[in-house]
Amino acid sequence: MYIHFPFCQKRCGYCDFFTRAGMQSSIPAYVDSLVKEIEQVGASAAEELLVHTVFFGGGTPSLLSPAQAGKILASVSKNFTLLPGAEISLEANPGTVNLEKLQGYQAAGINRISFGVQSFKDVELQFLERIHSSREAVDAFEMARSAGFMNINLDLIFGLPGQTVDSWADSLEQAVKLDPEHLSLYALTIEEGTPLHRQVEAGKVIPLDDDISADMYQLAEEMLASGGYSHYEVSNWAAEREGKDQACIHNLQYWLNLPYLGIGAGAHGCAAGYRYNNAADIACYIQAMAGEPRMQFPFSNAIESSQAIDKRTEMNETMMLGLRLLEQGVGDVDFARRFGAGISDVYPKQINRLTNQGLLEWKDGSLRLTRRGHLLGNRVFREFV
Ligand code: SF4
Repeated sequence: MYIHFPFCQKRCGYCDFFTRAGMQSSIPAYVDSLVKEIEQVGASAAEELLVHTVFFGGGTPSLLSPAQAGKILASVSKNFTLLPGAEISLEANPGTVNLEKLQGYQAAGINRISFGVQSFKDVELQFLERIHSSREAVDAFEMARSAGFMNINLDLIFGLPGQTVDSWADSLEQAVKLDPEHLSLYALTIEEGTPLHRQVEAGKVIPLDDDISADMYQLAEEMLASGGYSHYEVSNWAAEREGKDQACIHNLQYWLNLPYLGIGAGAHGCAAGYRYNNAADIACYIQAMAGEPRMQFPFSNAIESSQAIDKRTEMNETMMLGLRLLEQGVGDVDFARRFGAGISDVYPKQINRLTNQGLLEWKDGSLRLTRRGHLLGNRVFREFV
């Protein structure tokens, strides 16, 4: 279950997520609406639904008080079967937490924290208009450890205008020194409609050369491999703890193209043969959830649009998402069991072309990206949709 929390203290210049700054007074009403939506979707399910992950994403879910997070989770437990040991993640901005709050989240049942650190260089954090410093990110990480979090992710961004390979190496080194269980590294994309995009258009900011970004990605692959992390997805690395790798179980659900429910304004879901999304407007969401239930599972009153997924689309999505898993790839036997046909039977031309180009390879019965393909994933994924 994905729960969207579209509130931020301040908008970062590069961000194009659905989130709002300056609307924090609506948070209590929004939390009540989330609880109603969880009740509504749970009540309309025809069978018992087992929830093995809950992900509070945003926006800045760490603007929730522990009591509010606990209230939402209590509603999940009441209306669904929340499995023992479920992974319950919350995205946190390092500038919004303290030890007491993190302890409160632990007590509320959250067992994984994902910090949006982005960089350990203050000049880069200022460029990104983040509300926290590098020191605050380190402090937040240490406080989370003291609060008992044994599963922590750090998000970092590379390819920033003006960033050097050396400064990126410093951020990676600092990240590895903290020894998190998981790292997500994203290349900066300059999205239309953002203040950063306007600055680029006006010539005030010069984007970094793609080749330097590619060097940064390859440097990360090398440094994190030496740091003991496995590169299990295009943008994600996991450490091993007690013989078990710490891949994000929630995100694996997406990459394996398995169902998930989307709760909250602007949330996307995929269940019961549909992809769907809720209206991306906080006031409309609260208003919609105040009414009597009028929708069938998996939709709630907040639904804005949905699309039925036919078998061919599901196969294409399974390839496009599954090939993001670098070690696992897409297993031929699993694919055949799910769709009644092998990968090579469904995509003979694409596979031939991409293997000849050195972008895809077969390994132990699975099709996966080659090392060269890691950098050209989008070119590969496009072939399947
Ligand atoms: S904190 Fe995250 S969600 Fe909020 S504006 Fe910044 S990048 Fe966007």
